[in-house]
Amino acid sequence: MIPYGKQHITEEDLQAVVNTLKSDFLTQGPQVAAFERAFAEYVGAKYAVAVANGTAALHLSTIALGVQPGDKVITTPNTFAASANSVRYMGGEVVFADIDPETFLLDIEKVRALLESAPKGTYKGIIPVDFAGYPVALEAYRQLADEYGMWVLEDACHAPGGYFIDQEGNKQYCGNGAYADLAIFSFHPVKHIASGEGGMITTNDEVLYKKLLLYRTHGITKDENLLHENHGGWYYEMQELGFNYRLTDFQAALGKSQLQRADEGLRQRQIIAQRYSDAFKTTTAVKTPVVASNFYHAYHLYVIQVEDRLGLYNHLREHNIFAQVHYIPVHLMPYYRQFGWNKGDLPVSESYYEHCLSLPMYPTLTEEEQAYVIEKVLEFVV
Ligand SMILES: *Cc1c(COP(=O)(O)O)cnc(C)c1O
Repeated sequence: MIPYGKQHITEEDLQAVVNTLKSDFLTQGPQVAAFERAFAEYVGAKYAVAVANGTAALHLSTIALGVQPGDKVITTPNTFAASANSVRYMGGEVVFADIDPETFLLDIEKVRALLESAPKGTYKGIIPVDFAGYPVALEAYRQLADEYGMWVLEDACHAPGGYFIDQEGNKQYCGNGAYADLAIFSFHPVKHIASGEGGMITTNDEVLYKKLLLYRTHGITKDENLLHENHGGWYYEMQELGFNYRLTDFQAALGKSQLQRADEGLRQRQIIAQRYSDAFKTTTAVKTPVVASNFYHAYHLYVIQVEDRLGLYNHLREHNIFAQVHYIPVHLMPYYRQFGWNKGDLPVSESYYEHCLSLPMYPTLTEEEQAYVIEKVLEFVV
């Protein structure tokens, strides 16, 4: 069986987890702090906050950004539902804007059109997603957000290690906090770095960072400088309504161990992507991803587009290749249709959905396995 994505656990990973299980800390402890430091450094952000999963990272972010009931927030329909749901957790309104037909990312021109068609202040924030690992050019989003007084929350679940080159020629890594107020990551097993469940929020903003810490642990603080009173060494205060969104120490140990191999995995993903693209050059029946030269794609997914997607999906499955579809447009989910979203509202994402298929993409996919996948794809479409 060849899946579309798969984790890779090494002996070092196992040792890191076992060592932590033998230590004094099971829940949040020194491994979490070490993972946060290492991850912040990896993406080039000042602060990192480890949390229970990517969805918790999104929820803590919308809390810290202060989303209020009724606040309108723009995001892409071509994402996992959690990106949009984080707005709903706060009672906000999700406004989907269509995607770019080349990159499959949120189309900034569609976002601009929305902003220009409403009084300033109507929209409070934007959640762009580095879909498939293609980094969002956040420089332009920052300008737009500043012009309209909005925050930017980057959903970088697909793109740790990805970057784009900015106007000045500098590498801007996904989640580095240079343009987005907050960025979030997931360590679900299909993502680049696996910790079982797990997530991370990165930022350069100290005020947001402190809020995230507070809300991650029930809104409770023991910081003497923040306490209203102090009754002694045991004393703490619950100052806000927070959650228990902590990561365990043994998950952090796994995540940190995996992080050490992240660049190696990325290089492997580039090689696999190149092989697919070369193999499908021979036919116009398979549309392959196009990456502009100033972008380093992190290739969480390798998405092709074909005429008969259901046919190809079934054909591959019959041969034990479990390709996947990313994504069913979120605005067409029954939950979001209740707010008035319908087929036809976002035609680019809808027609993309009719044809897209994510082929197996993970660092341990062997050349032989990939050749088999390519053979089965070509056998069907040509
Ligand atoms: C995986 C994913 C999430 C959610 O992460 P979990 O760790 O599964 O909660 C959110 N957004 C995107 C784009 C994802 O791919």
